Parts: sequence; structure tokens; C-alpha cells
Amino acid sequence: MAAIGLENIRHAYGPDPKRPADYALKSVHHTFEDGGAYALLGPSGCGKTTLLNIMSGLVTPSSGRLLFDGRDVTGLSTEARNIAQVFQFPVVYDTMTVYDNLAFPLRNRRLPEAEVDRRVRETLALIDLEDRAHRKAHGLTADQKQKISLGRGLVRNDVAAILFDEPLTVIDPHMKWLLRSQLKLLHKRFGHTMVYVTHDQTEALTFADTVVVMYEGEIVQIGTPDELFARPKHTFVGYFIGSPGMNVLPVALDGARARIGAAEIALPGAPGPVEGRIELGIRPEFVRVGREGLPVAVSKVEDVGRHKVVRATLEGRPIAALIGEDEDVPAEPRVRFEPAGINLYVDAWRVELGS
Ligand code: ADP
Ligand code: MG
Repeated sequence: MAAIGLENIRHAYGPDPKRPADYALKSVHHTFEDGGAYALLGPSGCGKTTLLNIMSGLVTPSSGRLLFDGRDVTGLSTEARNIAQVFQFPVVYDTMTVYDNLAFPLRNRRLPEAEVDRRVRETLALIDLEDRAHRKAHGLTADQKQKISLGRGLVRNDVAAILFDEPLTVIDPHMKWLLRSQLKLLHKRFGHTMVYVTHDQTEALTFADTVVVMYEGEIVQIGTPDELFARPKHTFVGYFIGSPGMNVLPVALDGARARIGAAEIALPGAPGPVEGRIELGIRPEFVRVGREGLPVAVSKVEDVGRHKVVRATLEGRPIAALIGEDEDVPAEPRVRFEPAGINLYVDAWRVELGS
């Protein structure tokens, strides 16, 4: 197990590496601590797979350095880095049995056959394929093959880190839930450094202690699930985490007051001098719907189980609020914002509100 340091990693696939638009990774600087369970979360195309492949050595970065426990491994092969990687789609030897697929990485390392057998059996139980152990892989379903891939990532315990790239995409929902809890238990038991790539916030928030959010080739925030939810550093994090995502309203500022059209919103404090595009970010959880506050036009009320989502417009801007399942929207509805839930953003980045 090792800490994985990324030092100013940039990567361009494009023909002209000087064009910023060609950068799949713009500048990534971060250390995954030894033994941490991380999720790498972001929308499709933001650079998650590129970053994982740079960590494992499948892709050489255009610039920057990769450090394992402080040792520069940027020039080392995948094998020399000793990393296990599980991909989105199955990578298995079709002509081998399930058992031999799992034994392969261990026999490669010349482990005694008794040890190989012990580890393979443990892993088979983990991925729930004990009854298929002596079947050839080619006859199995995509789902079962992906479990073999997952097993091959987990069968060794001497790796520097285990990297998962959306590993449960082809797995059915119930099994997905089961495997995810297995991974979490496994992390508790062996303390491997694990980096789990996903575009699914539920998956990220349930697997990881620390979530690393990526957007357009950059890391925009690193934090616990609670931190990401309560204080999104970038408006994108606010949109992306939570359901529905954070409301973002363009406003004009006047000290501790924000104006949107004819409506005025009192802020919990005044920011220092700011310049740029100014927006308020307020999660639907902090928007109260009732008879007091700013008038809104309600377009829809959706029942989502324990809550209802109220869709409305405030000064022509869409806004969402959450109310209890037994609550109703009054005639001539108005909204208020809870001060604790008001965030201020300048050019998409959060700024502190003084008091
Ligand atoms: P993610 O895994 O978050 O979906 P990727 O790392 O796969 O993102 O891709 C990041 C960006 O790099 C995307 O714009 C994608 O089109 C581009 N890209 C990825 N792989 C290649 C490649 N082999 N050649 C050229 N461009 C690529
Ligand atoms: Mg990807």
C-alpha cells in the first residue's frame, strides 16, 4: 500500500498540446493518502479515466510527476508500479476457468499453490461465484465476467493501490449494492489505498470517506460527503451533488443584500470587495415555501417519497424547494431562504460571507 501523489499533472491527447482546449487534464495536484478510500466523482468526459490511467501507467502524462510514497514512478511500467486496476468492462481470459483467471495474477507472482488456493477461494466467495469456479469464462454472462474482473483486482493483497473505473456499470442493481458494501468491508479489513471512479453520486457517497470532485479536467473540491453537501466550493459541485441540485441565482450585490429583479434577499453577512459574475447558491432544503417572503410562480409539485419538490420561478428564474410529504403549497406562494443555507459565488467559486 502506498500514498499516491500527483504533482501538477497535465495531459493532452490532442495534436496540439499548446491548445488549452485539448487538455483532458489541466492541472491536477493532489495526494491520495495511504489506506484511504476515495471516490473520484464527475460527469462523463471530465478526465476521470485519464487520471486513473496515469496513476496505473497506461497513459504517460504530458507533464507532471507521479509519486508513490514520495518515490518518482512517472517513468515506471504498470507492472513495476504494482497497481491493481478494474475497468468498466470485463477483462478476462475467456479460455481459462473462473478459478484460473483469479489464480493468474498470484501464480505470476510465484505464490505457493496453497496460498493461491486460499486467496482464490476467499475471493470467489466475495464475488459470489463459488459455484462457477471450474467453468470456462467464455460461457458466462457479462455480469459474471465483470465479477471476475473485480475479483482479479482484489485477489492480491500486496498492491500499492487498487483503482476501480466505474466497475459496476454492467452489474445489475441489487448485486451492485451488495458488491459495493463488500468493497467497503474489504477496505476496512485490509486498508488498501482505493480510488473508485464513478459519475454516480450515490455510489461515491456510500463508498468513500473522501470524495474528490472533478470538472473539466480539474479537481474542484475534495471533502467528506457532508462537506461537499454543506459547502460546495464551486457551483458545479452544488448542481452535481444532491437531488435536486443547488439553486443558482444570478444577483447584484449591495453590501449584505442581494437583488434579483425586484426581489431582495438579505445575506447572513457582507462579502469583502468582489468583482465578477455574482450568484447565490441555495439548496432546495433551505428554501421555505409559505405565505411570507418573495412571491414565486409555482409550475409543478413532484412527489419524491419522503419529500415533495416544488418547482417555481422567482423573478423569471427557475428555483426548486423541498417541502414535507404532508405539506401543501398555499395560494399566492412565497419563498424564504434560511440564512444558514445561503452561499455566495463569484465567477463560480464560493466566497465567505463576513458578518
Ligand atoms: P471520463 O472518464 O471522466 O469520462 P476521460 O478521461 O475518458 O473522461 O476523457 C477526458 C477527455 O479526454 C474527454 O474529452 C475525452 O474525449 C478525451 N479523451 C479520452 N481518451 C482519449 C483518447 N484516447 N484520445 C483522444 N481523446 C481522448
Ligand atoms: Mg471514464
